[in-house]
Amino acid sequence: MAERFILSNNSVRKLINGRIVRIDEQTTASLNALTKKQKAIRSRGIIIADAQENLIMQIDKQLGQHFFPLSMIDYANVAYQNARNGAPFPIISVDSHDVLHCDFACKDCLSGAGKNIEKACNNYNFNLPIELYKHMLQEISNYSTKRGFHNVRFEQSGEGNPDLYKSRAKLIEFAKQKLGMGIVYVSSGSKLDNSQLSSLVENVDFIRISFPGISPEAYQNYSGQTSFTFKDSIKNLEKIISERDKIGRKETLLVGVRATLRPEHENEYLPFVRLLNEVGIDAIQLSKVLIPDKERVDAHPLKQNEINNLLECSALSNSYFGVQVPHDLDFLYYGRVIDKNTDFPVTCYSAHIQPVLAGRDLCVCTKSDVMYSSQYSFGQFTGKKDEIESFLSPENFKKTTRDLPRACSSCCSIFDNLLVHNVVTLTKMLNRDLQFWEMIE
Ligand code: SF4
Ligand code: SF4
Repeated sequence: MAERFILSNNSVRKLINGRIVRIDEQTTASLNALTKKQKAIRSRGIIIADAQENLIMQIDKQLGQHFFPLSMIDYANVAYQNARNGAPFPIISVDSHDVLHCDFACKDCLSGAGKNIEKACNNYNFNLPIELYKHMLQEISNYSTKRGFHNVRFEQSGEGNPDLYKSRAKLIEFAKQKLGMGIVYVSSGSKLDNSQLSSLVENVDFIRISFPGISPEAYQNYSGQTSFTFKDSIKNLEKIISERDKIGRKETLLVGVRATLRPEHENEYLPFVRLLNEVGIDAIQLSKVLIPDKERVDAHPLKQNEINNLLECSALSNSYFGVQVPHDLDFLYYGRVIDKNTDFPVTCYSAHIQPVLAGRDLCVCTKSDVMYSSQYSFGQFTGKKDEIESFLSPENFKKTTRDLPRACSSCCSIFDNLLVHNVVTLTKMLNRDLQFWEMIE
């Protein structure tokens, strides 16, 4: 196994056989100089230790991209402050679903290319004039600043294609330059115009381009359209990388790709990953998709050949290029079933720290049946100053989430919820000072 180091805000140590040990000054200086992006690429999990640096818990998860530009440490610290000092939760991340239309018709799209929500919600909610949208972000930012958290992570992933929001460039500029948010943009990139692309490259922390398929044939087959091809998407990436490097943001803008495991991809993983490496992409996430309805996960085992290919892809990771493959290389799909209800928190922490914007509504979470249900909306933004305080007042929070997470048989934020739950439980149980370190390889 590669050497493992652990980093906190101001110290660096090495992890050797479950012990935290000090290291020489030169290595410390070079690891302290790593940028956020380099840390995210090399992230392998989190260490919880006591004040004397005795290891208490090690969580091995390669999820740097999932949290970027935040990290697991931000989540752990917020949970710790709440459990240790009774500090109220700030919002640390918000995922915005702001567009209802898509030019793709992906076979396994959870939003039905934006159509599912139309059936459940008032369409008007998705009429988002830029001034109202800016107000919504300002409210979220103010709410968190008052609770000691700055730089809220703002992810835009659409409910359709986010490229289609016409004021995107202005919105991103406002969120970054006025509010100091950490910006994540997730899209196929098929409808990016030049002004959007420039604004993204100048202001965003993480651009993640989704590939419905990782070969020209699979891309066409799964995207359900023919006007934007696999080749077009690669060209888009080349343009993003070239513009990024031209304006000197190579070290601050993470450009990643997400693609899913599919039966048709069996022999395509390695060529795809090598191609993206040549293009200059920083990080690739190859993940499982949710098992299609009425099917069983264990009916779709991964073949040995696929496992070998994925492991070979993962081995191409280095300090500048991260390839993340599923933690369990067992089945092609995953279920989000909560295995043991007894191990799951009785509170949905995710609703506290990372609620979701669905049009004008601030909702509990991103899982379709929750997000599409008005009973799980904390409130709808109208433009009134400080309205978010009533949305998230203790009474309204309790009322809105009263049957959650009990009512959830599966969870869309299962790892995040369990991370916060573990930290809260440990903090209360041990009743002593703890510290958190990011583990990198
Ligand atoms: S690009 Fe995204 S929103 Fe559009 S159909 Fe595909 S999965 Fe759905
Ligand atoms: S699925 Fe349930 S437990 Fe999970 S984030 Fe949503 S509301 Fe919370």
